[in-house]
Amino acid sequence: MNVDLVVVGSGFFGLTVAERCAAELGLRVLVLERRDHIGGNAYSEDEPETGIEIHRYGAHLFHTSNERVWEYANRFTRFTGYQHRVYTTFKDRVYPLPINLGTICAYFGRAFTPDEARALIAEQAAEITPGREPRNLEEKAVSLIGRPLYEAFIRGYTAKQWQTDPLDLPAEVITRLPVRYTFDNRYFSDTHEGLPVDGYTAWLERMADHPNIEVRLGVDFFDLRDDLAGRVPVVYTGPLDRYFGYAEGDLGWRTLDFELEVRETGDFQGTAVMNYADEDVPYTRIHEFRHFHPERRYYPDDRTVIMREFSRSAERGDEPYYPVNTADDRARLLRYRELARREDGVLFGGRLGTYQYLDMHMAIASALGMVDNRLRPHFTEGER
Ligand code: UDP
Repeated sequence: MNVDLVVVGSGFFGLTVAERCAAELGLRVLVLERRDHIGGNAYSEDEPETGIEIHRYGAHLFHTSNERVWEYANRFTRFTGYQHRVYTTFKDRVYPLPINLGTICAYFGRAFTPDEARALIAEQAAEITPGREPRNLEEKAVSLIGRPLYEAFIRGYTAKQWQTDPLDLPAEVITRLPVRYTFDNRYFSDTHEGLPVDGYTAWLERMADHPNIEVRLGVDFFDLRDDLAGRVPVVYTGPLDRYFGYAEGDLGWRTLDFELEVRETGDFQGTAVMNYADEDVPYTRIHEFRHFHPERRYYPDDRTVIMREFSRSAERGDEPYYPVNTADDRARLLRYRELARREDGVLFGGRLGTYQYLDMHMAIASALGMVDNRLRPHFTEGER
């Protein structure tokens, strides 16, 4: 085979590696993609009836404070000025997220100054001894926002998202959610944020559009593995446990089910993402895609596309989305990492290949790091 490098998977990690190796190192890169489209879970397409861009694998919002990643992304796409905001419905009332002064005032039904709100939450959070390391998600959340807000906005949603007792979930799950004592309800605090002007797929296709890159869709690496073994270096971004035939057991993942629906209205919910905090609502959130691109004048004004999101435990064969990361998973991961370290000629990367929840910007940053630290030295200095 006439290639210098095989990249397994065409998500952001795989495409960043492929693009840099082709454009900067002049390598011939073969990208193998099991699905019938590129882009991994960032893939987007136009819903055929309405022409509204949908994210088939859940909403993807681009944000980063990493200047190198931002500069790199801007080589392939321009970004809109979209700023993500999320609301949550709890007991038939709507509140802004992440939890901020607006949420606190609305929930407790009166006006609070920032200092008053801090004092209130400090009092409600005092059941977790200040300074003591929270042992699990519930303790972490209560220490940040107090029990009433935890029970309203976190407990039910987290129970649906993880189907695991919050006492058994790691505290880190919640550290993604800031708490603010201002009315700022931007979801992300990064320097740069926006959505690709002509969609994710156009961006991803431009990354793959290089004469030295060949992408083969609908090809499972494991069908070719024996032919490739040892003959060409591989960057593998598929599931780590699958690579090793699940020898150390399955790594736990959450999967998502999506229900897409075209509605006969120009606006279903007035915002891009509405979370549902009540435990008896079976879905965690509803996405309404038109609101990601208010600048697109060509979207119909009498129809809209919504997508309900449901979370459940992944079986083999389901799409893995969120690493569950129980203590057993972490022990298995260490054993898989050791196997990966000893696997000659193969580098493991990306969300699936490292069993890590990576935002898009983190996947790109991590791929650029792999090129810097492993691939460029290997190919330019003959180092291994
Ligand atoms: N979360 C919650 N209530 C919400 C939103 C998030 O309890 O309304 C918790 C939940 O445990 C979730 C975590 O915060 O798993 C991270 O949420 P985020 O919205 O960052 O997750 P993502 O958008 O990546 O699914």
